[in-house]
Amino acid sequence: MAAYDYETHEYDVVVVGAGGAGLRATLGMAEQGLRTACISKVFPTRSHTVAAQGGIAASLSNMGPDNWQWHMYDTVKGSDWLGDTDAMEYLAREAPKAVYELEHYGVPFSRTEEGKIYQRPFGGHTTEFGEGPPVQRTCAAADRTGHAILHTLYGQSLKQNAEFFIEYFAIDLIMSEDGECQGVLCWKLDDGTMHLFAAKMTVLATGGYGRAYFTATSAHTCTGDGGGMTARAGLPLQDMEFVQFHPTGIYGAGCLITEGARGEGGYLTNSEGERFMERYAPTYKDLASRDVVSRCMTMEIREGRGVGDEKDHIHLNLNHLPPETLDLRLPGITESARIFAGVDLTKEPIPVSPTVHYNMGGIPTNYWGEVLAPTKDNPDNISPGLMAVGEAGCASVHGANRLGSNSLIDLVVFGRAAAIRAKDVVDPESAVPTPSKRSVEAAFSRFDGLRYAKGHVPTADLRLEMQKTMQADAAVFRTEKTLAEGEEKMKDVAGKLEDLHVTDKSLVWNSDLMETLELTNLMPNAVATITAAAARKESRGAHAHEDYPDRDDENWRKHSLVWFKGNEASLGYRGVHLNPLTSHNDGGIDLKKIAPKARVY
Ligand SMILES: Cc1cc2nc3c(=O)[nH]c(=O)nc-3n(C[C@H](O)[C@H](O)[C@H](O)COP(=O)(O)OP(=O)(O)OC[C@H]3O[C@@H](n4cnc5c(N)ncnc54)[C@H](O)[C@@H]3O)c2cc1C
Repeated sequence: MAAYDYETHEYDVVVVGAGGAGLRATLGMAEQGLRTACISKVFPTRSHTVAAQGGIAASLSNMGPDNWQWHMYDTVKGSDWLGDTDAMEYLAREAPKAVYELEHYGVPFSRTEEGKIYQRPFGGHTTEFGEGPPVQRTCAAADRTGHAILHTLYGQSLKQNAEFFIEYFAIDLIMSEDGECQGVLCWKLDDGTMHLFAAKMTVLATGGYGRAYFTATSAHTCTGDGGGMTARAGLPLQDMEFVQFHPTGIYGAGCLITEGARGEGGYLTNSEGERFMERYAPTYKDLASRDVVSRCMTMEIREGRGVGDEKDHIHLNLNHLPPETLDLRLPGITESARIFAGVDLTKEPIPVSPTVHYNMGGIPTNYWGEVLAPTKDNPDNISPGLMAVGEAGCASVHGANRLGSNSLIDLVVFGRAAAIRAKDVVDPESAVPTPSKRSVEAAFSRFDGLRYAKGHVPTADLRLEMQKTMQADAAVFRTEKTLAEGEEKMKDVAGKLEDLHVTDKSLVWNSDLMETLELTNLMPNAVATITAAAARKESRGAHAHEDYPDRDDENWRKHSLVWFKGNEASLGYRGVHLNPLTSHNDGGIDLKKIAPKARVY
């Protein structure tokens, strides 16, 4: 192995990731006077959160009656009864506070006539515990909500003297012999120097792994690096079989057209010009939840009613909306439709198809963001020194399916929760741990092995093979056969990591090596996805199993866990938290209201 010099940095807290979750955690930690470093492989405001269009859910009641219990009910139902009840209560209850904080930090929300935060309808968000009309709960800054949040949080974090390490790539977690996280080893991309960050608390906020698939709405940087690092540290990944397909990615390009487009009155049609969602979801129609709409679109296409020469996509109509609405509420997607589909929204429909969009699964945590290392005796055992927030984590509030606009709120509620918790568990007076030599050496040795990899398979080729396999075999609809084939195929694909070939051996701006590191992170996420999917013999949320079309609460209302030893995956399960934080007598939700039932929209 080549010898690597490195610089050591000591902090109370190191946050890996500067998207909405990482920045909210960084800001909260720094506000409390904890010495906080935030590391990001891209400039903070280029994190994928910047692309979030539609908005952020909170029951502010600015546009009509609403309350946190209705929001919680919708989240429970959206999750198809797989979310943890305590975490979902925490999310719905804290959401309004978290949004008002954003407002006070300076997020430029769109406004109502009276100057209140504007809120729009979104799929699966309803009133009266799913009995009433759709609710306007999704707070928006036009269709650039993520952009507005990210810029504000970055500015506020700088104001609180959080220190940023930009274009630093986190390679691996540093773990003590007895399983405590002691920080992270990083590679500075622009000058090739190596940096060891030692910290009392490490927070993974590295986002999702959409790029394990061939077509995704997520940025090329969404490579599940946090999940990869966690898997290598011997900790499990949870509920990875649940991958959300967004109904309206632009056909071919994959760019997102926000659900806000349907929230503002847009609707889907098939080749016969029929508004087919009325047939499948008579009450909420085009605003049924995402897994439902994506499946209906796929069924229309399968039955020969897709549009286009290949009859393989669907139309999204917005041309009936007043041009002022498009201008004011949906300017960003008007532009995306023109650039990526060559469509003038005021005149023609947009060609769309279901596209990979979000990972419900991730690193298991409690609702404080503390990472779990479940044992036989204690499924909620905490892994010391490590937190995970945002799309990288799994608290689990989205269960088997996330509602639109519930991710941005997840980022800020749990980013904030991690900071609140850190106040109790991180002692600013205590000494920063001395990183385990063995762990540091292991991280360097893996890095060096990849840098000088002399096998036969170029990184880009193996990545493509993985993406095509996942796209074909872990898709909107799954069968025993596709999953079994996919699982075998992915074993083979993952095995080829041993045979990679990296051409560029330098350390300065070596994108070949960086993409190789990312591929080694994508791979465990992808393998965990297909392994957990092949094992789950039911249909729930985003996991639609054609051989087991029904939900099976008796046997399968449990979280899947996947551990890795090298490329070898093993499965386990942990129970869903069924108890709320507050009893009904103390103002909590009536548990009868959220008891499992059939999920119809
Ligand atoms: C196009 C699009 C539109 C969306 N619209 C909405 C919406 O309207 N409402 C909603 O609720 N949700 C929406 N979502 C989902 C939501 O935006 C994402 O789930 C969320 O932004 C993820 O935020 P995050 O902070 O977890 O991660 P990200 O924003 O993806 O940030 C990840 C961060 O981690 C850093 N990082 C990753 N790996 C490393 C590494 N190895 N070393 C150093 N740094 C690393 C990156 O540099 C980045 O800063 C949308 C998603 C997409 C793709």
